[in-house]
This record gives sequence, structure tokens and C-alpha cells, in this order.
Amino acid sequence: MKGGITTSNSTERRRSTLRSVVDLACSGFTPLLVALTVLTMLILTLATTSLAQPFDRSGTLEEMQRVYASNIAKTRQIIFAGLDPREAALERRLDYRVPLSDDIQIARALPFTNDIELGVGFLRALEMLIDAGIIQESFNRPGFMNRYIDYVVLQWRRRATSIKSPYEFAGWNESQIDRFTANKSLQEQHMNLFSQNLALVMAHEAAHHILGHTKDITEDKAVRRVREEQADAWAVTHLLKANIWPAGGTLLLHYFYKLDEDAILHEDRREHPADLRRIRALLQATLGSVDDFRGSTTGGRTVNDLKRDLQKTIASLDVDIADDERRRQQQGASTTTQGGTDNDSVKRIIDAFLAASQDGFRSIRGSRDPHGDGEAWQSKLVYPGATECIIWIYRDRSLGRNCKCEFVRTTQKGDIDQRYAQLVAEIQSALPGNWTSRERPLDSRLLRFEAREGRGGSAVSVRVTNRGSRGYGLAVVFEAPER
Ligand SMILES: [Zn+2]
Repeated sequence: MKGGITTSNSTERRRSTLRSVVDLACSGFTPLLVALTVLTMLILTLATTSLAQPFDRSGTLEEMQRVYASNIAKTRQIIFAGLDPREAALERRLDYRVPLSDDIQIARALPFTNDIELGVGFLRALEMLIDAGIIQESFNRPGFMNRYIDYVVLQWRRRATSIKSPYEFAGWNESQIDRFTANKSLQEQHMNLFSQNLALVMAHEAAHHILGHTKDITEDKAVRRVREEQADAWAVTHLLKANIWPAGGTLLLHYFYKLDEDAILHEDRREHPADLRRIRALLQATLGSVDDFRGSTTGGRTVNDLKRDLQKTIASLDVDIADDERRRQQQGASTTTQGGTDNDSVKRIIDAFLAASQDGFRSIRGSRDPHGDGEAWQSKLVYPGATECIIWIYRDRSLGRNCKCEFVRTTQKGDIDQRYAQLVAEIQSALPGNWTSRERPLDSRLLRFEAREGRGGSAVSVRVTNRGSRGYGLAVVFEAPER
């Protein structure tokens, strides 16, 4: 085995690639973002020599497929060198494939086979996310990576014909992009992060085979969650053995998290403590071996500084996880018993939306929604229980102005019926007396509630959408008066 993912001659590189991102860790980002900033601090642990071929950003899918296949072969030798004989025998049987697909989601261990698929589109997306992370840290654009991940996943779901690169998304011109791709230090960061994330996903998928998960398929979500944790734990153990820092993989977990159907509508990641726990476990594993950083820090930072940063991040994740659990319990309680004060606050918020509709929602308009093509803004006011509310002000005035609040998608018809009825009741009791309302059947099983303040006035509706196997969607939409 030549080179290796970690080499001894990389100290100089580490010096040149280490960025002080620690300040960001205390500047009020959400914990998930803090975790992501810490990971970029740790990218320096991998040498770039292991993956010899540089990435060609303009390559064809076939060219990329070749490069990825060779990266996988090299990485495989490094990360599985320390397996015990039984696991090594199982690992040797595995067949890593790189499907020539632009699907950004193909990263899987196929059941009842020895196959692992890591698609070109998936690996390509991973590279783009890594560059988005580098742009965030090295060009001082807080939150950029998160926005870019959201954008990529949304475009993918919308079946957009093309997805912007992070450089385009950042609004860079050709010469700025050229400068970025010619910057050796930034390219090394890219290779390091890519190596780490590739190693993690390879080890994770291998674990599903080696631990026997792929021979015993289950629909039981609790069992599946446990298996994901087991695969992570197995991967972390073997990455550490191979001197690869697991913290870099938080990027990948974050991406998987965003690919999750619920998580997309559910911007409020607090509903998903499991992902936070996975990220926490990775950071904890990194903390356990951070001493090996000795001699490789720069910018006046010591190993103890790194430890403190990791500890701080883990502590903030713990707070977030505890908060999730509390909220989840509260939510469980509030759906069974409805307190009067709760209803009062819902009514106040509905009143505020109705008032805001009068001025085209200008008073509650927050930051621009990056996915909205210049026609959408995040609302500062969020309907109780909604994941987010987006204000749409279309350039084509005939389309009007509205504020759309989305709820979590579900596949349970019973859940959607119950939530729909609850929203209709809330809104009806909050509407002023001069409003008229009606409910009309959408199909034999679904309803849509609409209420309006006279002809051409403000309106509000509760809309259910049936997306077949992808479940039911639910939204409350407030509309401004016609002009
Ligand atoms: Zn898995």
C-alpha cells in the first residue's frame, strides 16, 4: 500500500490548509452548522496523495466514473486493511459499482447481493457540496453550504434540467471560478474532504453487508434506525484504525439528512434528533482520537483548542437533542389535549397573517428564499406547527401574492385528515364575521377549505395534496387582496 490516506509528509500541507473557523463556532449558528464548521477545521488530517487523480470539473460522466472507480479501489485498500480475518473475507466479496447515473441519491448496499453502488451523480453532488463548504469557510460566507445543499436537493426533486455548481450559486464569474480551481491549497482541502467522506460512505455501506443487514430486510423503522447506528459505529471504528478522522463525515450525514423526504419540507431539523445523534457520535469519535493532531495545528491553535471546540460542539448538540426530545413530547401531549391558551395564541397568529395580507405580506417579509428565483421570501411569521412559511410575490402580477405555510408530509391518511380538520377549525374560529367559507371535495377522499373576505379580498385556504407513494402534503395559504 503506497501513500495512504494519512501520510507523514503532509504537515506542511496541513499548515497551509488549516483555516481558523473556530470563531464561527460561537457566533450563533444553529448547532448543525456549528458541527459543519468544525468539520472543515479537521479536514487537514488526510493527505491528498492517496487519490492521485485530480478531479476534472468539466469531465464527462464516463470520465468521472473512471476516476471515482479508481478512487474507490485505492480507498478500499486503506480503510479495510485492519479487518479481522472473518470480516476481511466478507469484505473481499464486496463489489463496488459506480453506476453511470446523475441521480444524486445512489449510495447503497443492495439487498441479497454483495453489491455496493455509489453513483456518479451522488459522488459528483458530494464534491459540489464540499466546494460549497470550502466557499463558506474560505470566502467568509456563513451558511452558504446549508443553502446550497437545500438548493441542490430541491432542484433535484423538482426534476430541474440542470443544477448550478456552488460557484455559479455563489454568483462567481469565470475568472473567479478559475482562480478557485487553480488554488492549490483549496484543491487540497477539497481532496481531503472528499477522501474522508468517500471513506465514510464506503465503510458505512460495507458495514450493512458485513453486519448482515442486507440479508435480512425489515420495514420496521426502529430496527432500521438501530442498523444505521450500527453501520456508522462500525465505519467509525475502522476509519479510526486507518487514521481517518470521522468528523469530516458530518458533511455526508448532513446531506443524507437533507435527502430525506420529510427533512426537506421539514426545514426545522429539530424534529430529527436521530441525525443529530449520528453527527454527535462522529464528533465524539473524533474527540477520542484528537491527540493525534499533535504537531499539525497552526494559527497558534493547539490540540487542546481543538478538543475544546469539539467538546463545545458536542455540548451544543446535546442541548439541541434534549430540546428536540422535549418538543417532541410536548407535541405528543398537545395533539391529545388542547389547552385554551394554545388556541388563543393560534388565533393571534392567524389574525397577524390576515393583517399582513393587507399589505401584500410586506410587514412579515424576511430574507429572500434562495430557491424562489427572486419571487419568494421567508416569512418571519410561521403558522403554528408549520415547517416554514414562504411569501410569494410573482413578477407576473396576475398570479397574485400569497404566503404558503407547509406542514410535514405524511403517508398516513388518518393523520392528514385529523390535522386538516384541526387547521380548518382553527382558521374558522379566527375569521372575522364578514368572511365566507366553503369546503369542496378534491376527489372522493380529499377536501379543500377556502375562505374569502368578500369579492377580490384577502383569502385563506387549507390545501391537501395527494402525492401517491410520496404521501400527502398539507398547506395553509394566505392570499393578499387582488389589486
Ligand atoms: Zn445505511
